[in-house]
Amino acid sequence: MTVSTARPTTLADRERSGELEGFRPGHTPSTAAWPIGGDVVAEVMATTGCAACPQVGLGWRDFTSIEDPRSWRSYSVCPACGHSEEF
Ligand SMILES: [Zn+2]
Repeated sequence: MTVSTARPTTLADRERSGELEGFRPGHTPSTAAWPIGGDVVAEVMATTGCAACPQVGLGWRDFTSIEDPRSWRSYSVCPACGHSEEF
């Protein structure tokens, strides 16, 4: 058996694994009302490197709980390889 190298974990992988079950893509009304918070995230993501490839500068996606709109999960997403990480 060999040690596997870092493989991109895409949002599609997470959806398949059930990690995002009960969540739908998009901002909650409360987070959408925080433009300053979004600007800070954009600033941080612009200088953040991907853990799975040499890409610097990531996007991000928010998912809101269908049952509790106050609950959400945010993931960085690499535009080059699709790797995602929750933050
Ligand atoms: Zn990447």
